[in-house]
Amino acid sequence: MRRIVIAGSTGSIGTQALDVIERSADLQLVGLAAATSWEQLLEQAHRFGVQRIALAEPDAAARASERWTGGEVLAGPEGLVELITDGDCDLVLNALVGSAGLGPTVATVGEGIDLALANKESLVIGGELVTALAEATGATLIPVDSEHSALHQLIGAEPPGTVERLVLTASGGPFRGRADLEGVTREEALAHPTWEMGGKITIDSATLMNKGLELIEARHLFGVPYERIDVVVHPQSIVHAVVHLNDGASLAHLGYPDMRVPISYALHHPDRVDVPVDMLDLAGVGRLTFEQPDSEAFPCLRLAREAAEAGGTAPCAMNASNEVAVHAFLRGDLPFTGIARVIESTLAELPARPLRHFSDLYEADSQAREIARDVAA
Ligand code: MG
Repeated sequence: MRRIVIAGSTGSIGTQALDVIERSADLQLVGLAAATSWEQLLEQAHRFGVQRIALAEPDAAARASERWTGGEVLAGPEGLVELITDGDCDLVLNALVGSAGLGPTVATVGEGIDLALANKESLVIGGELVTALAEATGATLIPVDSEHSALHQLIGAEPPGTVERLVLTASGGPFRGRADLEGVTREEALAHPTWEMGGKITIDSATLMNKGLELIEARHLFGVPYERIDVVVHPQSIVHAVVHLNDGASLAHLGYPDMRVPISYALHHPDRVDVPVDMLDLAGVGRLTFEQPDSEAFPCLRLAREAAEAGGTAPCAMNASNEVAVHAFLRGDLPFTGIARVIESTLAELPARPLRHFSDLYEADSQAREIARDVAA
């Protein structure tokens, strides 16, 4: 029996993970954490007989502990860390949104606990430090991001040195082929053509920043340098990733877009279990198309690649400014095209510094947020 803690159980990935766990005889849920949604978290704890929960927002934690006598409520970001380090679990699913996921990622890996990672920002921000820590403690990182899950499955059996290039596919988002993006509304940007996801990642998909974050995530998960990782737009979202090998063979991972597949893979790895999804009907799909991303209309992908290549604290600053800009856009305070402008200005103002310790990240993150808020205002 594998004992699991979910950080971020009330979001899109978290609730789908609960469906996977409910169907599985081999997985037992022992802890649940969320940012603010305390009523939903209590319902989940009740449904799964979980005794320990954590809420990152202290007021939400206080309300939950008033209401709940069935178990323990931990409070604040340190409560999320405590849920992981003081519990008795074999695997943590980190499905938190944004840089708030870094603390739980470090806590998990630092304890030598295996990590199913849906919070890509942890690796974008602190990939070097997180992977070095995992190597030191023996914790295994299993990606939940669909493209990286695909790469994990494709690369799995290949001996070192055979992988020449990685290809991440991108749906292209709702604005593929559209030239004038200045007047894009929140509702248009939130209507993703192929994947159903949370708000932040859906906006990141619309700007193509999501693929920029995934480029950095892939670099850290698979140790392949940036110049050997490509992004290609594939509107049908059937091919999730491709690996080009040294003998001329190229391997692709295919399937309908359904996050339960990579979630189940990560929670059961190295086993595979039945997931109630339709088997791929190639003739039904008919046509698969691929094209270069439009770097003029979608500058975020270029900005992410530049920050990645600058290294050090630059990806952290890039991520922080993106989070500030996306939230400003969702509030209606920034036009869609302002997102890239905020990131570009922040990176120009805040030079990359070397990354030696996690404290360097917290500093770069707060400096970048401050600059980005000024630029966005
Ligand atoms: Mg993805």
